[in-house]
Amino acid sequence: MKKISVLIPAYNEEASLESLYQRLGKLANNNRDYDFEFLFINDGSRDKTLEIIKEYSKTDDRVSYVNLSRNFGKEIAMIAGFDHVTGDATVIIDADLQDPPELIPKMIKYWEYGYDDVYAKRISREGETWFKKTSSQWFYKILQKSTNIPIQIDTGDFRLLDRRCVEAIKQIRESQRYTKGMFSWIGYSKKEITYHRDPRVAGETKWNYVKLFNLAVDGITSFTTAPLRISSFMGFLVSIIAFIFILIIIIKTTIFGDPVAGYPSLMAVILFLGGIQLLSLGIIGEYIGRIFNETKGRPLYFIEEYHLGKAPKKTR
Ligand code: UDP
Ligand code: MG
Repeated sequence: MKKISVLIPAYNEEASLESLYQRLGKLANNNRDYDFEFLFINDGSRDKTLEIIKEYSKTDDRVSYVNLSRNFGKEIAMIAGFDHVTGDATVIIDADLQDPPELIPKMIKYWEYGYDDVYAKRISREGETWFKKTSSQWFYKILQKSTNIPIQIDTGDFRLLDRRCVEAIKQIRESQRYTKGMFSWIGYSKKEITYHRDPRVAGETKWNYVKLFNLAVDGITSFTTAPLRISSFMGFLVSIIAFIFILIIIIKTTIFGDPVAGYPSLMAVILFLGGIQLLSLGIIGEYIGRIFNETKGRPLYFIEEYHLGKAPKKTR
């Protein structure tokens, strides 16, 4: 029997776990042709998340868990999950039920047709602010423009991955991870299905705009060096303008003499150049920061404790 792993990163999700577990249980009961594994990654929750998961695992051998040593963030929680799933296919799903587990059979169906990566695209996002939707749209646009790998727009991490995609992602050990981009980068055959994204059932989103901004910067800097190219281009453009400007000044002074004037234009030029220089330095700094972090070569996470439900089946 083929085995489907459901990977659930969870950070302070005590309020959603019960209904998630119910719905996953129902899913498994309705699809008895497959073995199921529910792998919870407890990402350093400070509430009862871990206790609840442990409780489930006592009576249900489909439930496995990995307890990380602290909160590492969803991106790291996901790689910790990939390192421990044992299924022939893996479905990543949020613990807050924003991604309906009822979509999983459809994903499995396409997987059986031969697709390696069946991803769910959101056609509506309930309970999210206008600002969040718009900023995410812009982000995707910018990312898409600046890199040649196709990025799937309005697609979260909710997807089914064949074993070989999981093995591919496991080999990418970057520490500042942008997993959504990696799904595209590894390639393999992809299939899109659509769904309506629900509001979360309980609790608050763990994302704030600072975190989202950081993810956006990670996303762009880990997938493209286009910003560096843009700053070189800006430098080139400004140099040309400056050269023309110098010629004009020289000609003007030789013809009309040199009355001391031009304070406003001087300030404008200095401020403009200063701005561009700082921006370029910042961009270079972003990349150097990434180099710094990657060269340290630290492990991505530490595990406090883990429990695998059924004895892991041999992978293909
Ligand atoms: N999450 C996590 N670690 C974190 C933050 C979030 O494992 O540091 C999990 C969280 O429990 C949930 C998923 O990642 O299962 C998505 O988080 P959230 O719902 O806060 O994000 P949103 O849906 O608002 O993008
Ligand atoms: Mg959510």
